Amino acid sequence: MARHRVPPTPDNFSVWFTYVLGTSIELKRAIDILIGNKRRFDAKTNYDLFVAYMGLQGSDGRTVNHASQRLRLLMLSARQFLNTAIADNHSQMQAISDVADRGGAEVHPRQLIEGLMKELEKATTRATDLETNFAEKARELDSIRDSLSKSEERAKTDTLTGLPNRRGLEEFFRVAQIAAMERGEPLSVLLIDIDHFKKFNDNFGHGVGDQVLQLMATVLRDKVREGDLPARYGGEELIAVLPKADLAACKRVAERIRRTIAERSIAGRSADEVLPGITISIGVAQFQPGESMSDLIERGDRALYFAKKTGRNRVVAENELDPELAKAV
Ligand code: GH3
Ligand code: MG
Ligand code: MG
Repeated sequence: MARHRVPPTPDNFSVWFTYVLGTSIELKRAIDILIGNKRRFDAKTNYDLFVAYMGLQGSDGRTVNHASQRLRLLMLSARQFLNTAIADNHSQMQAISDVADRGGAEVHPRQLIEGLMKELEKATTRATDLETNFAEKARELDSIRDSLSKSEERAKTDTLTGLPNRRGLEEFFRVAQIAAMERGEPLSVLLIDIDHFKKFNDNFGHGVGDQVLQLMATVLRDKVREGDLPARYGGEELIAVLPKADLAACKRVAERIRRTIAERSIAGRSADEVLPGITISIGVAQFQPGESMSDLIERGDRALYFAKKTGRNRVVAENELDPELAKAV
């Protein structure tokens, strides 16, 4: 922060703390671009960075504000302590040099040594106090960092299913997209939508519907590989991003998911009540280098819509869209 002349205010501190932690790829990229372009971190830029990347809403906003307050207090107390330590140090040096000066004035060497020993002992005690105080500050900083990372994690997670939410998805996709382009590897997505879910909710209640969503999340998590990202994209729409998978590979995964869901029976409220089976439709699309996530999702969505139109409980890949029919949907 000193190098870029960013005033160490609590808000700026939380921005740069997050930058150094590297937990927000967007923030890191934004600051790196500013540094690369040799932009000045003036008051407006600093404010914009804080609002755009740290100004979270709801409980996470409170965590960040709380962390800012804790940082403010921490910095105040560190500054006070340091000022006192510097002042003490000066008087200490003065005392030592006074003792040494007296050395010239016919003082017994034994007295001189004792005087010096006393002053040095005081200096050691102060140095130890200083160390203890800074160790405490470091612990407090660790705890602030922990609470910030936990709140970041919460902000990226959907509470019902425990899957990454849209924000988590976007963050993952940004990295996956760059990796795919750099390595020349494929990258695909599958979009899932539950069939006739509205009716299911109406018949059996929203609570049972929520359980179905949780079951879907479990199946999705189970069927994708490590390194893939299953996420909740919207209300009853789930998505999985599959790095290194081309359209055909992604379609095979989608087919396994579809079949698993179709074969699952769903328990009702009472033990012997079995609800009608749920089915899902899936659209699959492959990333084209350079395109945005929303363009890719739009193509996946078109395939999904096509799967709905042609009977549901189906997987459709974007290359299976009949151009004429696709135009119609
Ligand atoms: P289709 O086969 O065409 O997809 O029919 P559908 O009834 O599923 O239609 P659509 O996908 O538009 O319906 C979305 C429904 O999903 C509406 C809403 O009742 C339900 N839904 C969305 N989010 C949630 C949720 O968090 N919990 C529950 N239980 N239901 C949800
Ligand atoms: Mg839907
Ligand atoms: Mg639906």
